[in-house]
Amino acid sequence: MDATETLIIGAGISGLSLANYLPEGSDWLCVEQLHEAGGYCRTIKQDGFVWDFSGHFFHFRNADIEQFLLDRMPKGEVVRIDKSSSILFKGQRVDFPFQKNIHQLPLDDFIECLHDLYFREGDPDAAETFEQMLYSKLGRGITEKFLKPYNEKLYACDLATLDKDAMGRFFPHADIADIIQNMRHPDNSSYNAHFTYPKGGAMEYVNALLHDLDPARLRYNERLESVDLQAKVATTNRRQIRFERIVSAVPFPKMLDLCAVPYDASLYTWNKVLVYNLGFDRKGQTQDHWIYIPERDKVFYRVGFYDNIFATPRMSLYVEIGLKADAEADIEGTLPTVLADLKRAGIIDAHELVSWHSVVLDPAYVHVNEPSQADFRVRHAALADAGVHCIGRYGAWKYCSIEDNMLEARALAGTFAAAAGPPVASAAAKGAGRG
Ligand SMILES: Cc1cc2nc3c(=O)[nH]c(=O)nc-3n(C[C@H](O)[C@H](O)[C@H](O)COP(=O)(O)OP(=O)(O)OC[C@H]3O[C@@H](n4cnc5c(N)ncnc54)[C@H](O)[C@@H]3O)c2cc1C
Repeated sequence: MDATETLIIGAGISGLSLANYLPEGSDWLCVEQLHEAGGYCRTIKQDGFVWDFSGHFFHFRNADIEQFLLDRMPKGEVVRIDKSSSILFKGQRVDFPFQKNIHQLPLDDFIECLHDLYFREGDPDAAETFEQMLYSKLGRGITEKFLKPYNEKLYACDLATLDKDAMGRFFPHADIADIIQNMRHPDNSSYNAHFTYPKGGAMEYVNALLHDLDPARLRYNERLESVDLQAKVATTNRRQIRFERIVSAVPFPKMLDLCAVPYDASLYTWNKVLVYNLGFDRKGQTQDHWIYIPERDKVFYRVGFYDNIFATPRMSLYVEIGLKADAEADIEGTLPTVLADLKRAGIIDAHELVSWHSVVLDPAYVHVNEPSQADFRVRHAALADAGVHCIGRYGAWKYCSIEDNMLEARALAGTFAAAAGPPVASAAAKGAGRG
């Protein structure tokens, strides 16, 4: 039987980061069910268009994490962009975030939002759900004109089933003073006021993480099928592997299944996102990098413009549609609706679609709520005690960015290094890569 100290499941950002940050001299093996690395950070190049699996733009808060990637990429590969995003509201563009720009709305909508903001009901400190948080902090007008319809389209669920902090730091909070202040002195800075983007697409960050890794330790087309926690043996579609520890980026409920851990599956819910990447024969609007679409009569919740990042001559879009996890994604059948809605939204007119690609991200956004998080905390800790460490956006069942994935992987590798004790040094501490 094959054996390894650290068996990594999944060659996405999380698994590859973990491999990079493992202590020097570690014995590791990574199995990936697909034919290539990258997970959700993969890029498609087709007919001269460069598309990610979905709009992936990056805003690093830790210079050392960004530098780790840049050190492993060709010079000049990554560009820094001042973000331009807006909201489509009744045929007009309103700056994002909506709550700070209500003064840009038609007068009646502005007055309604302002009135409802001032006379909002409910105690934000007592809010338990995402929906209660929206109403109690921002009032009915702002909630019902943008935040509720937009997030219902995205999450494809009742917002009363989400935790008040379901979006964590990704929710742009604003109080009355911020909102009034912004009417005179615009400051629309949000968590991603700038972003970086590799010229070759998000996959270039994956390639950076592959840069120092021994390819022989990465096994593609190999899928984890079960784990015997007692015997510490993993079974894949190819073989059995004895392990000291597993680090898994497999979606958490799926990993519980693979480890034969009984749990209440109804606690874990998520949406999926149907993404269309669309290439047209000519340029469209040149202003925004992405547009939020709260209107329920348009099938998509967000449209992004790759061509406005690199000033390319043909419009290159990603279009995102939130679906319930059990909904059928009708890729061919929905495309005509997408094109019709793009036309009604004023994003295309006589444009001819010359190339397209589609992907379903499942899961895409996990539904963060207290019952699932409480169950997760207990089972996550129990699995870790059994040597199975679940990380990543889906392994750790949360809303996060690739930078968060790298930080989490680095911290976990640090605990392995600490447990191993001296004289083994931590690659994380040295900022070194891993063979
Ligand atoms: C719509 C959308 C937009 C996003 N936008 C951004 C953004 O702008 N900026 C940003 O920083 N982040 C963004 N993210 C988040 C980012 O995509 C994730 O944080 C990151 O890709 C997660 O990496 P991961 O390795 O944790 O998971 P994944 O990418 O899911 O990788 C897991 C890997 O495990 C493999 N695997 C699963 N099961 C098995 C098995 N049984 N056996 C073997 N292999 C298996 C999978 O094939 C996959 O390769 C976005 C996510 C979504 C859904």
